[in-house]
Amino acid sequence: MEFKKITLKRGKESSLLRFHPWIFSGAIDKKEGHISDGDIVKVYTHDNKFIATGHYQTGSIAVRVLSFKDEEINYDFWHKRLLSALELRQKLRLTDIEGNNTFRLVHGEGDNLPGLIVDIYGSTAVVQAHSAGMHYARNNIAEAIVNIMQGRVKAIYYKSGTTPFADEMNATEGFLIGKSSDNIALEYGIKFHIDWINGQKTGFFVDQRENRKLVEQYANGRKVLNMFCYTGGFSAYAIRGGAELVHSVDSSSKAVDLTRENISLNFPDCNNHEAYAEDAFKFLQNMQPESYDLIILDPPAFAKHHDAVRSALHGYQKLNAKAFEKIAKGGILFTFSCSQAINKEQFRLAVFSAAAQAGRSVRILHQLHQPADHPINIYHPEGEYLKGLVLYVE
Ligand code: SAH
Repeated sequence: MEFKKITLKRGKESSLLRFHPWIFSGAIDKKEGHISDGDIVKVYTHDNKFIATGHYQTGSIAVRVLSFKDEEINYDFWHKRLLSALELRQKLRLTDIEGNNTFRLVHGEGDNLPGLIVDIYGSTAVVQAHSAGMHYARNNIAEAIVNIMQGRVKAIYYKSGTTPFADEMNATEGFLIGKSSDNIALEYGIKFHIDWINGQKTGFFVDQRENRKLVEQYANGRKVLNMFCYTGGFSAYAIRGGAELVHSVDSSSKAVDLTRENISLNFPDCNNHEAYAEDAFKFLQNMQPESYDLIILDPPAFAKHHDAVRSALHGYQKLNAKAFEKIAKGGILFTFSCSQAINKEQFRLAVFSAAAQAGRSVRILHQLHQPADHPINIYHPEGEYLKGLVLYVE
């Protein structure tokens, strides 16, 4: 294989010495060999000392580091890294939670596999590549998943929608190994129909598992509004928790259909759930005050990039202020942000401003985050993306 070498500008190795897994394009002094998107490159300091092996890609993040060792990136490498991701989940007993066949096997940088996401739904694994390099490695990765899962995974579906340069690279979606139409995921005994072909992300938001369980704990006797419901995850838990009524809202009519389908899958006789295809801001604006005493706000990422942070914070404030204005006295608000570019202090400040704007007395009951199968590499704080507050509103 041709040697592809990247030499950094003087001093630009300092973040790598602290194991940060990204090299920005501005840090690169020299490229040698024919380097194209998705290639494995060896990275050297200005003084010609080896420092990392990674995937190259055009753009602001030029190299995603796979290893700080000078090792070959071959099938054995993927097998070793995937096995280590599985072993973490096994040690934490996340692979055998009662009533559960769903978990995240690989969470990008959190599993030292930047650019790769793998979610397990029963006997199917859904793989997403966020980098060109992971796209090229997809067949090795698929084979390694089947091997480490020892019969538990029979089909691998590749979702290429997030692959950069997907068109140029002929990144087509479909099964890499096997085939499966068994797309019912189980989460703490609740069934969800997973549409990995047309759905958002890998078809389901695995990351809200523990937070949905907390909603179940507080739902008894409450009137629940699940805003941004998508597949109706929070709604199903609220119903099982004994809510008096549950209303689910999403601007996408497809999401509303999915929610209805999942509610009847679990509670065929349920008569206290309604789902509405409406815009969140309009719905909150038009609803009667005190209609609900448990509200969940789980919007899509308002800030996709750092330059959108200000307007996103304004959006979170506006949304939460509406909920604070309308929620019944003694109500509980679950409010989330999944914007990677917004940290928990900024989010909390936006929610604080919203509470002050509405003039309500508010206490923080819980501070929520992503679960253990979405680990954060301590050297890559950007991996902390999901944050939530559970608030008691008087
Ligand atoms: N709470 C969900 C995940 C929410 S994802 C879960 O637990 O699985 C965000 C959802 O917000 C998407 O389904 C999207 O269709 C919806 N959405 C985006 N903008 C919206 C808007 N302005 N009003 C209502 N829903 C919106």
